[in-house]
Amino acid sequence: MWTVSHMMTLSPMEKVISYYRASKVADNLNDEDLRCFLEEQLCKEKAGLSEKTIARRLKTKVYVASKVEENPDACSICMAGYKDRDKVASLYYCCHEYHEECIKEWLLKSNLCPMCRALAIIPEDYPCWEADVQLHQAFFLHLQYAI
Ligand SMILES: [Zn+2]
Ligand SMILES: [Zn+2]
Repeated sequence: MWTVSHMMTLSPMEKVISYYRASKVADNLNDEDLRCFLEEQLCKEKAGLSEKTIARRLKTKVYVASKVEENPDACSICMAGYKDRDKVASLYYCCHEYHEECIKEWLLKSNLCPMCRALAIIPEDYPCWEADVQLHQAFFLHLQYAI
């Protein structure tokens, strides 16, 4: 276990490693291997996805405009408000929503939410973070500073 004062003296990468150690996700790796694993992981997360992965894993729905709504939600990529029957996709962790076509194009280049930089979708070969979204978010934020 770590203490607060201990955490403050650690570099971002050391913090991430301590989190991983505490979570027992990477029990079988030594520090050097864990560091390599984390760096690979971050590169993967920052990189774009294949069309196949996007098609399989992106959650989409059809937007239904409400009659009372004067200012519909807008897609932050193209800035256009959603129209009735638009196809809208929402991201895995943060649930930010975009037009399906707008976010698909973005995901080819990066798997991070354009608004908040949370992981956008979970690829099929992704390790077991689905179990603990908040833990992963904490890792990921530290990782971004670590590398
Ligand atoms: Zn859009
Ligand atoms: Zn987001």
